[in-house]
Amino acid sequence: MTKLKTISILIPAYNEEEVLQHLYERLVKLAGDTSDYNFEFLFVNDGSRDRTLEIIKSYAEKDSRIAYVNLSRNFGKETAMIAGLDHVTGDATVIIDADLQDPPELIPKMIKYWEEGYDDVYARRKSRAGESWLKKITSETYYKVLQKSTSIPIQKDTGDFRLLDKRCVEALRLFRESQRNAKGMFSWIGYKKKEIMYDRDPRAAGETKWNYAKLTNLAIDGITSFTTAPLRISTVFGGLVSFAAFIYIIYLVVRTLLYGSDLAGYPSMMAVILFLGGIQLLSLGIIGEYVGRIFNETKQRPLYLVEEYKKSGDKK
Ligand code: UDP
Ligand code: MG
Repeated sequence: MTKLKTISILIPAYNEEEVLQHLYERLVKLAGDTSDYNFEFLFVNDGSRDRTLEIIKSYAEKDSRIAYVNLSRNFGKETAMIAGLDHVTGDATVIIDADLQDPPELIPKMIKYWEEGYDDVYARRKSRAGESWLKKITSETYYKVLQKSTSIPIQKDTGDFRLLDKRCVEALRLFRESQRNAKGMFSWIGYKKKEIMYDRDPRAAGETKWNYAKLTNLAIDGITSFTTAPLRISTVFGGLVSFAAFIYIIYLVVRTLLYGSDLAGYPSMMAVILFLGGIQLLSLGIIGEYVGRIFNETKQRPLYLVEEYKKSGDKK
């Protein structure tokens, strides 16, 4: 008998006690239906304050397919994902949210494409059930801006729900930056990509951990970690304004020489000063964003700390 390939399912979980039971049942069913493969269910407990870890441990005692990484505190989903990628052992890895917004039933289809030779099979949302129109519009605009500012193709309406071949996982492990943006990294690594469409379900239970402040931060992080286009924009804009100002100075000098000067023009002067002051502060802010990133990266801190790791397939 040939050795079965292993699919690792990576589940970042932060305060997910309410959904774990549903999730686990559906994963077990999936594994039962997809018996040509071995499965590893790797939970990353991202410093949950509820019973999440306890529940995962209780599953792990009964089920040797379960592995878990318990992080030393809450690090955020991005970091939880790289912690998971560092610990998965499968030939392919599927990243999936704990809250069942990503239907596990899609995984066999992903595996099928993977077997056909695709390295990164990602799920694209057809609909966004249970999300407000404001969230839809903001995310739509965000994708547009991000795509305009870079030459790497960005996958639209795509989250982190995807199957990654081992070589993608190995590639992603090389990305050790501390301010992470997985979406950008998935695009950056390239390899053979395949899109499949699906309907995103509303959360099965519990609450989203995102709010608009967090999403705004994520958006700014996304742009600044992906592209230096904002710096270029401020350079170009600065150039244009300086050029216009230069023309205006020539005009002023010529006019003064021909007609003499008077002291009028206070409002227009204020307007120009305030406008330029605003632009300067904005540009400083943009530079600051990048300096901040340099500062954070040069510290070279570890991305996360592991409190406990239990491998799949062996008794603890
Ligand atoms: N998550 C995490 N750490 C965090 C926040 C979220 O590991 O600090 C996990 C969470 O448990 C879930 C996934 O990331 O499995 C997506 O989180 P959520 O459903 O809150 O985000 P949304 O679906 O609203 O974008
Ligand atoms: Mg969710």
